[in-house]
Amino acid sequence: MTYADGNAESVGSVLSQHNGRPAGIELADLSHQDVRDRLTDLLDNALDATEEARLRRHLAACPECAAYYRTLRRTVELLRALPSQPVPERLRGRLRTIPSEEPVA
Ligand SMILES: [Zn+2]
Repeated sequence: MTYADGNAESVGSVLSQHNGRPAGIELADLSHQDVRDRLTDLLDNALDATEEARLRRHLAACPECAAYYRTLRRTVELLRALPSQPVPERLRGRLRTIPSEEPVA
């Protein structure tokens, strides 16, 4: 008769319970990170209506992501208000030389 069989499986099953979902509230089955990853698409109107509705539901219920969205939207507005200025070629060339001027430690 053998004794050793049967108890060796428990370690693996405990570890596999953690499957990467963030703990805490989940709203409209999107994680906070999912929402934040898509906010630029929302600002660009690049989402379809269903996606957009899911994001907006999350934002309506989640003050943290809503604050993040407001900050991002403000930043994008400011950037768009800036005149676009190409970097002069001479400056570009000088910037490229900087790494080679770093002293070698
Ligand atoms: Zn959130």
